[in-house]
Amino acid sequence: MNVLDLIYPPRCPLCGEILSLREGPVHSNCYKKLSWVQEPLCKRCGKPLTPEAGETRELCMDCLRSRHRHRKSFDQGRAVWLYSGDIQKSVLDYKYKGMKGYTDFYAGAAVQKWGRWIQSKNPQLLIPVPLHARKKRIRGFNQAELLAKAIGRRMKIEVNTDILYRKRWTEPQKAVSGQERRHNLSKSMEIRHLPENLRRVMLIDDIYTTGSTMEACAGILKKNGVEEVDFLTLCIGYGSG
Ligand SMILES: [Zn+2]
Ligand SMILES: [Zn+2]
Repeated sequence: MNVLDLIYPPRCPLCGEILSLREGPVHSNCYKKLSWVQEPLCKRCGKPLTPEAGETRELCMDCLRSRHRHRKSFDQGRAVWLYSGDIQKSVLDYKYKGMKGYTDFYAGAAVQKWGRWIQSKNPQLLIPVPLHARKKRIRGFNQAELLAKAIGRRMKIEVNTDILYRKRWTEPQKAVSGQERRHNLSKSMEIRHLPENLRRVMLIDDIYTTGSTMEACAGILKKNGVEEVDFLTLCIGYGSG
């Protein structure tokens, strides 16, 4: 045990309780309760398909709709867990209570679940979904960046935080319509310092819900010549949304 463990004792990344030495990095009971994303998944965004909702096709309703709009967007995405229960609270604490110690657990699980898929996509860079500079100052860190770095270390893929910027403060947009939200978001992303010959990237974030953020990031990357944009997130919302 090192000194830091005494000052900041390790906590279970799922329930948040302090762990005793013999318990390891996560309570086994908490781990057993995790809802891992399972097939059948939407071939594009990786959302679990719900046959009872008529999603018997290969794509979820959101992706069917977006394909029909011919928007330049991401190619494929995968998530590790469904956004519910303990992991939902865990990710919220990670982001808003600064539980940075959870990073290794998250990255380890992401690589265990999707390491081979990441390899098959062969991204030249991992790019964390950017946070507006002001939000990052308030929060002290960008959770997507911590994740990308931890995944990049394990997969030996470079992480780049200089390409994609979020340039304007976007207020929480629960009240505005989906279309308005997508419009605001796409205008808020900006490309700087794009390396030459960048063809394939993978975006990293904590949560995928409506996909608007991911589409905004992918859209501007593609507009600037990146050919393939995939994404990996820790959690994904269930059903369409
Ligand atoms: Zn626990
Ligand atoms: Zn989908």
